[in-house]
Amino acid sequence: MKLPSFEYLRARSMEEAWALHSEAGGDALYLSGGHSVVPSMALRLQAPSRLIDISQIAELRGVSVAEGALRIGAMTRHAEVLADPLIAHHAPLLSQAAPHVAHPAIRNRGTIGGNLALADPASEFPAAVLALRAEIEANGPDGRRLIAADDFFLDLYETALAPGELLTAIHVPLPPESRLFGFDEIARRRGDYAMVGVAAQADVAGGVIAGASVTLFSVGFTPVRARAAEQALDGAPLSPESIARAQAALAQDLDPPDDPGFPPERRLQLARVLLGRVLSRMEPVK
Ligand SMILES: Cc1cc2nc3c(=O)[nH]c(=O)nc-3n(C[C@H](O)[C@H](O)[C@H](O)COP(=O)(O)OP(=O)(O)OC[C@H]3O[C@@H](n4cnc5c(N)ncnc54)[C@H](O)[C@@H]3O)c2cc1C
Repeated sequence: MKLPSFEYLRARSMEEAWALHSEAGGDALYLSGGHSVVPSMALRLQAPSRLIDISQIAELRGVSVAEGALRIGAMTRHAEVLADPLIAHHAPLLSQAAPHVAHPAIRNRGTIGGNLALADPASEFPAAVLALRAEIEANGPDGRRLIAADDFFLDLYETALAPGELLTAIHVPLPPESRLFGFDEIARRRGDYAMVGVAAQADVAGGVIAGASVTLFSVGFTPVRARAAEQALDGAPLSPESIARAQAALAQDLDPPDDPGFPPERRLQLARVLLGRVLSRMEPVK
């Protein structure tokens, strides 16, 4: 389908992007990979009068380690997330999530910043950054701020970004070598959005789990931290018994919306099965 008409402008700095956004009085969208904006315009789900291309802004690029954290620029494309050795070493949940995101053609254009700013509840990266306890770097005319991933995803397609604010990077705290990670999803076909997905990390100290972080996606309007499941794991050895307790605790964490084709009880059951699978296969970075 043909797109509704719009004005295309390219910003070369953050200041220019904010000015172009504010000039449009709320009727503009930033364009990074375009793989959600453009289809949604073609489907007439939105019709901004202006698209501001942010792909040339230097602050949104690059992957680096500094001050105890991995910084992933917002313009890092899904295919780069999949291949980057620093991400594989320090934020393996993102590398493990990337092959599940759509197909190669989309991964070559889609960006992690666009993906997080969109906040699709069935999307892999939001759940991974939540489980990694990452921070989202945002920059706007009022300055720079770091938003804990726990406070970033507010509701369906709604984030803590203020109007016109740019998501500039993701900061992931560097994990200890021994940290265990696990990621998986169940989808009808490879590359489809997940019916349910799990991202998890945990440290094991003195034979017991400490600081488990378990996130599920495609189970509600945002990615969900499974805090009752985390509590069921913390302080216990990683064993079939503690995993079974975490699976049982999921009923307190999840309240899947009613979907005629996929009743909540079935989604909860799939989530339990997948959580068991992911927890029993957790492993450190190789
Ligand atoms: C056929 C198909 C299948 C897909 N399957 C999956 C899938 O399985 N899993 C999955 O996670 N995704 C999937 N996607 C979505 C894909 O990952 C998108 O590319 C991604 O969600 C959006 O990233 P983008 O860079 O293309 O953002 P864009 O489409 O350019 O932008 C998305 C939104 O974010 C805003 N935005 C973009 N960048 C910024 C920024 N830096 N700061 C502030 N706001 C910003 C835009 O204004 C817009 O509102 C699929 C897409 C298609 C077309």
